[in-house]
Amino acid sequence: MDIIYATTSLNTFAQRKLSELEKKNLRRHVTVTKPLNAVEVIRDNKRLINFSSNDYLGFNHHPALKKAAIEATERYGVGSGASRLVTGTHPLFNELEGRLAKIKGTDDAVVFGSGFLTNSGLIPALMGPEDLILVDELAHACIYLGARLTGGTQQIFRHNDLSHLRELLKTHRRKYRHTIIVTDGVFSMDGDLAPIAKIADIADSFDSWLMTDDAHGIGVIGEGRGSSFQNGRHLNVPLQMGTLSKAIGGYGGYLCSSKPVIDLIRTRCRTFIYSTGLPPASVATAIAALDLIESNPLLAARPLELAKRFTRRLNLPVAQSPIVPLILGDTNKTLRAGNLLEEMGFLVIPIRPPTVPEGTARLRITFSAAHQETQVDKLAEIIRGRLLEDSAQ
Ligand SMILES: *Cc1c(COP(=O)(O)O)cnc(C)c1O
Repeated sequence: MDIIYATTSLNTFAQRKLSELEKKNLRRHVTVTKPLNAVEVIRDNKRLINFSSNDYLGFNHHPALKKAAIEATERYGVGSGASRLVTGTHPLFNELEGRLAKIKGTDDAVVFGSGFLTNSGLIPALMGPEDLILVDELAHACIYLGARLTGGTQQIFRHNDLSHLRELLKTHRRKYRHTIIVTDGVFSMDGDLAPIAKIADIADSFDSWLMTDDAHGIGVIGEGRGSSFQNGRHLNVPLQMGTLSKAIGGYGGYLCSSKPVIDLIRTRCRTFIYSTGLPPASVATAIAALDLIESNPLLAARPLELAKRFTRRLNLPVAQSPIVPLILGDTNKTLRAGNLLEEMGFLVIPIRPPTVPEGTARLRITFSAAHQETQVDKLAEIIRGRLLEDSAQ
């Protein structure tokens, strides 16, 4: 009887929560989306051109990556079978970690199960209750989770606001043992870049460590080396994390840093130690992706070129990355705009709170090297005619 009673209250709780969210138009749904090729999908029986994927280089369907995944699977199996510290470190890991360190210009690198696992484990492995964690207000959710797990003090600085960051450090730095500044290199929902060179200077002057989340930088910014490489400069970022699941096309996360930091993470980071190593196919895919990025700098530049073409056509601020937000504000209006584009054959997923701040619901449009210019132009034309006109009314 007890069990039945408990289950009933659990289901009632879940149902009530869902209804509350439904009322506010904040309930989310998982929709099966069948990929046909690098840019086309089938969704709700409709063929759509996908402008919502983070597969910026069209690697998801690249023959060289598929081949690498199949060969690795044939050789080493479908899974790694254990955590990295037990028997899960198959030979491909060393090669990938060396390659990541090389492209990011660091001594060493460590690969995790995902970007989310990297951030949620890495920050608490470095920071503790006596420490201060400074986070950009628009940084990714898993950074906030990692910061919370440290048990330390968290301060949020206004988005890309250097004077606010400096002010917080002036006021609080001396009360803490260590301080870390954490920011996205490329902001995932806004597409703008962090002023990394200036943040690095501030970090140095307050003896603070700097960590960038470059999930949307590797493969598409700085000739594919990421947001620490801007205008031909190699910026001083001692902790560069990122994901293998966006431009790299597969799955996994990583941190690039100095030898002692990476060795410490391999010894102490819980999301590294207590989680199974990536399957051989994922590791081999990432190596093949880095081969393509390093051998073809024009490829890495292509998604941003298309994003700039799009922002030029709509007189929007010039794109800084392959992510372009079209902020419509109201959630319902944004959902309607997404539906309209879907009717016209384009998949642009509406993004709403709490993923973005209240009142800034938006269409988040992402560009891939695999998009054709005609597809970009058509999308711009529809948005100009049907959405921007609407919003002027
Ligand atoms: C996607 C994303 C992550 C998480 O990476 P996964 O590999 O998908 O878990 C972390 N940070 C940012 C900024 C992201 O956009």
